[in-house]
Amino acid sequence: MKELDWANLPFGYMKTDYNVRIYYRNGAWGETEVCSEETIPMHMAATCLHYGQEAFEGLKAFRGKDGKVRIFRLEENAARLQSTCQGILMPELSTERFREAVLKVVKLNERFIPPYESGASLYIRPLLIGTGAQVGVHPASEYLFLIFVTPVGPYFKGGFSTNPYVIIREFDRSAPLGTGIYKVGGNYAASLRANKKAHDLGYACEFYLDAKEKKYIDECGAANFFGIKDNTYITPLSTSILPSITNKSLMQLAEDLGMKVERRPVPEEELTTFEEAGACGTAAVISPIERIDDLENGKSYVIAKDGKPGPVCTKLYHLLRGIQYGDEPDVHGWVTIVE
Ligand SMILES: *Cc1c(COP(=O)(O)O)cnc(C)c1O
Repeated sequence: MKELDWANLPFGYMKTDYNVRIYYRNGAWGETEVCSEETIPMHMAATCLHYGQEAFEGLKAFRGKDGKVRIFRLEENAARLQSTCQGILMPELSTERFREAVLKVVKLNERFIPPYESGASLYIRPLLIGTGAQVGVHPASEYLFLIFVTPVGPYFKGGFSTNPYVIIREFDRSAPLGTGIYKVGGNYAASLRANKKAHDLGYACEFYLDAKEKKYIDECGAANFFGIKDNTYITPLSTSILPSITNKSLMQLAEDLGMKVERRPVPEEELTTFEEAGACGTAAVISPIERIDDLENGKSYVIAKDGKPGPVCTKLYHLLRGIQYGDEPDVHGWVTIVE
């Protein structure tokens, strides 16, 4: 293989050697199959195509200085997928089967795992779709679980830095009793217009307020929000945001550093009081927030007064990345080493 320019890879799809697939038929999951096809032959009346019966996950594998490959918190991703399955009536895949499939696809594509020095990683994308035909609105009786991987470059190509964000009031991504807590494609379909508007206006990403009262911060595109003040890590508690595994990990690390952690509704006005804030998710770990504009209200909440990432964001970012790459001790048992 021609040596890839790992450090300049985008966050995009690149063909790798294999994907793995497990079919659910007659009420049971079958064997794990290895596949080199990139396409899925499917019935035109499959429920994933018509009624959005589909879920996905996102996690990463990292090559350490020691050459070992580490996968971050895969059991958490398995559990979240199970929760999503309950949410949209799909059969659950056990954590054991999920783990076995992730390890298999990573090993099979070992040559695509970027070297330590590049700061790049291998993105792992599990997908579960209803493949059985249905015309009435009902769950399918057949499903396909698959995982593909693709190498992705470092999120911060010019070094860890802040970004501007914008509150979009015109569109909601999810409702208080809707599917916002599940990782399903429908939430992303609902977010496309808001996301395009934010990008067209020159912002890194869109922010959503709670759909009911438009008073509280929900989350930001495909990332959770947190703010820092008075040695406290504060993150929204809401029934319409996706429980981010990065956020969960950062809450633990903040606690380890002797900070207080609060999960509670965060009113928009509170943005004026944060010393630092960030958007967090698998893609960036932390994307520190420079400011959040609320155009319709004529407000601009400047968080990073000097335009630079604050000390707490910087510390948490390096700590979490350090655990992922094996540079920091994995005291919480978050990492699975690929043998
Ligand atoms: C995947 C996702 C996140 C981030 O979750 P991580 O587990 O940290 O990657 C946040 N918000 C939404 C809407 C997501 O889909």
